[in-house]
Amino acid sequence: MRMTARRMTARRMTTRRMTAGLGKRSIGWMLVSCLLLASFPLLGELPVSAAASAAASAAAGTAGAAGTAAAASPASAAGAASTGSAASSTASSTASSTASSTASSAATASAATASAATVAASALLGLNDELTELLPVLHQGVYDVPVRRMAELLGLTLSGTAKEIVLSSGTGASLYLYSAEGIAVQPDGSKVKTDMYAADGSLMVPVGVIARSFGYSITYQAEDKLLRIVTVQGTMDMKAFAAKYQSQIEAHLKAVKEAEQQAASSASPARSSNSAKTIYLTFDDGPSAHTGKLLDILDQYDVKATFFMLGNHITSYSDSVKRMIKEGDAVGLHGMTHQKEQFYKDPAASLQEMNDDNARLDKAAGVRTTLIRTPYGSKPYFTQAYRDKVLAAGYHLWDWNVDSQDWKFKEDTASTYTNVMKQVKQVSAKGTSPVVLMHDLPTTIEILPKILASLQKQGYTFEVITPDMKPVNFWHDER
Ligand SMILES: [Zn+2]
Repeated sequence: MRMTARRMTARRMTTRRMTAGLGKRSIGWMLVSCLLLASFPLLGELPVSAAASAAASAAAGTAGAAGTAAAASPASAAGAASTGSAASSTASSTASSTASSTASSAATASAATASAATVAASALLGLNDELTELLPVLHQGVYDVPVRRMAELLGLTLSGTAKEIVLSSGTGASLYLYSAEGIAVQPDGSKVKTDMYAADGSLMVPVGVIARSFGYSITYQAEDKLLRIVTVQGTMDMKAFAAKYQSQIEAHLKAVKEAEQQAASSASPARSSNSAKTIYLTFDDGPSAHTGKLLDILDQYDVKATFFMLGNHITSYSDSVKRMIKEGDAVGLHGMTHQKEQFYKDPAASLQEMNDDNARLDKAAGVRTTLIRTPYGSKPYFTQAYRDKVLAAGYHLWDWNVDSQDWKFKEDTASTYTNVMKQVKQVSAKGTSPVVLMHDLPTTIEILPKILASLQKQGYTFEVITPDMKPVNFWHDER
């Protein structure tokens, strides 16, 4: 890693400001930072040099409260990225006239006019011990902020042209943003692939890239949808910070939930209420090489389905995932390993798999979901302790009430067909909407047209599962 003399000097100064005793703990923070940096799904690409810089800062004893909070909350560590804290403190007098021209109420105003989808994807942003008005928006797995507002907030000078935007700190460190090329050149000279886009007349840039470029620590607490940048020493820890803004966090989470529901209902305005004649087709374990064919058949019958997918498969067949979303199918999570011993090892392991799966989905298709189905269904392993942990993160648990047993019948597609038709009739007769379990298998795809044709002939219609529905699961857990 390259380091300028200026940065070295600043770092020494920072070290001198430290209180005695922090040095020993910092070794621990260095390890924590390294672990967290190894799993940084939400805050964008992290170049090796930044990781080294973080470790070096930590070794110098400058890792702060962010590390504490992330370490104290393993659930949030999945979405957290922590780097060593700042070599430079916030410059307050360097904001250029262009940077400061934005009205301070812009965030509030844009939040009010933002689409439901934008609100649903937003997080709160803290700077040191204060909550800011900025609402970073999740886009392709990364939280973005309007670059001008961010510069203003951090006291960075904004200059350059639309093609080459330059952010400079009081210490002279500069970050160059090339939006057309999707490249950021950091103060240490390293290039980072950085997706940037225009929204409401602002260039949206990953908050993590900006913060880390200037050596600031950034933490994400997933359950609170709370990002926080720390630029100075001696701030309160993340737990205390979240407690201080508890009412704002709760209000924001409520707004996100309402926006999610609004986005879901406007996405499918014709969605009928649960009726016994409404079928929810679900496909597990995909996507696969056959998913394209499966989607063709659904198209042909004008049927929408819900897919509970595995993380690695999402990455391998991301085009199919994008197509599902484009065509109005619903996407859900099925974890990463599909291994009983690993997925059900403990509640934290289950949550981690779903979060990792969600990050894959976000990376592949730019969306997240709260719909989950656990491997082999939630009974018997997904007991209360597991559900408390995973559903508290906002997930909704879905099993099924019609089991096609397609994985067992395989080539005996006649049996799959008879089984589905029989069970759908039974469930429907009880006044319940059938939720049908199938798998993304060639043999299932083979018999699917016949199943769809027969069910449509009998007057059934097909809908997708949405986050606002009362979940159907074996535990009758309605969260
Ligand atoms: Zn499965």
